[in-house]
Amino acid sequence: MYHLKDAGHIAYLAGGGVRDLLLDRNPKDFDVATDATPEQIRKMFRNCRLVGRRFRLAHILFRGEVIETSTFRAPVPEEECEEYCENTFRTGENGVVMRDNIFGTPEQDALRRDFTINALFYNIADFSVIDYAGGLKDLEAKLIRVIGDPDKRFAEDPVRMIRAARFAGTLGFEIETSAYESICRNKELLTQAAPSRMYEEVQKLFFCGHAHQVFQWLERTDLLHPMFHDFSHWIDEDKSRHDWVTRTLEHMDRWRKAGLKVHPSLLFALLFGEYHEFLAERLEKEGMSAFDARRMAVQQHLKGMCDHVRVPKLVIYQVSDIMGNQLRFQKTKGHRPQRFLNSKGFLDAFLYFKLSSRAHSRDSELLDFWSEQHKSRKHKAEY
Ligand code: ATP
Ligand code: MG
Repeated sequence: MYHLKDAGHIAYLAGGGVRDLLLDRNPKDFDVATDATPEQIRKMFRNCRLVGRRFRLAHILFRGEVIETSTFRAPVPEEECEEYCENTFRTGENGVVMRDNIFGTPEQDALRRDFTINALFYNIADFSVIDYAGGLKDLEAKLIRVIGDPDKRFAEDPVRMIRAARFAGTLGFEIETSAYESICRNKELLTQAAPSRMYEEVQKLFFCGHAHQVFQWLERTDLLHPMFHDFSHWIDEDKSRHDWVTRTLEHMDRWRKAGLKVHPSLLFALLFGEYHEFLAERLEKEGMSAFDARRMAVQQHLKGMCDHVRVPKLVIYQVSDIMGNQLRFQKTKGHRPQRFLNSKGFLDAFLYFKLSSRAHSRDSELLDFWSEQHKSRKHKAEY
């Protein structure tokens, strides 16, 4: 920011970084907004590359972190909104998609952001906070408020609805009434969001360290139904299923706080575990082997989900491995345990096994056996 300022540009810290600093929280990452164009930025920084097809922005590598630096953006003109939503953009020279590359003023840039608390700027030139959208007041009142008309802004980009649930859950804020009512009215729009973006945002929902609270918001707003159609209906049928999901998410939050890295395959295995076991049991009754039934259950469910949330093939494959491998915990004789312990998928399968046997208060002897095996293997590895 000082480098941009010294070259005569405006450079503001923007978005979640300002919000989190004002709330005394550790920002996950820093975004910078500036009046310098992407080309100007590229020429000023050595460790910089331009990314983005729709809107060009600069990634600047600074002390091992990527600082996303974007030129102030103008809103998409109303008459082009429909086209914008359909993601069809005019292709410019060099095949670069130009439609969204409309530069604007700092105020326009602030007002095209999603929520007031995400639209604050911090100006290093005079150490002031610039608040075009009323974000400071909402930070104080602990409110997630949409900038502009919620119906319009959610129609423009339905993913904003689950972002509202994430910020409310993570920060312990309320969703402002008109935004909340708009989500309840418009939740089905979520099925029209781009599946690859949904996958990105779904991960953020559950990796934020407050997955349990976020899940409560997804239930309160009923966003869970359009997001995970079959799974959510299955939960509705039985209260104990709901309790399993809640307990699993609480565990995951604890792991995150302890610094343990949970990756997408383990997340999906844990989140949908009970549902996958339920589906597998049905397949087994139809005559499939236990192992095949488990793998098939995962694949049928996650592949079916891809129309809305595009789970990568590798992740689907790894989740089926975790589920299939559960059967190997029953076999404690001969060389089998050693072979399993040395296999690549052991740790994830073990974490799942640990959590599910504790949740159901079952297999406690088996759990002791495998915990011992795992500990002694780790011990050996350290030497
Ligand atoms: P996090 O702590 O999860 O990084 P964040 O607020 O920084 O939260 P990002 O997804 O990193 O969220 O986005 C950075 C900023 O870009 C947001 O603070 C917001 O101002 C803007 N933004 C992101 N997604 C949208 C969207 N879908 N619509 C409008 N503005 C958005
Ligand atoms: Mg961020």
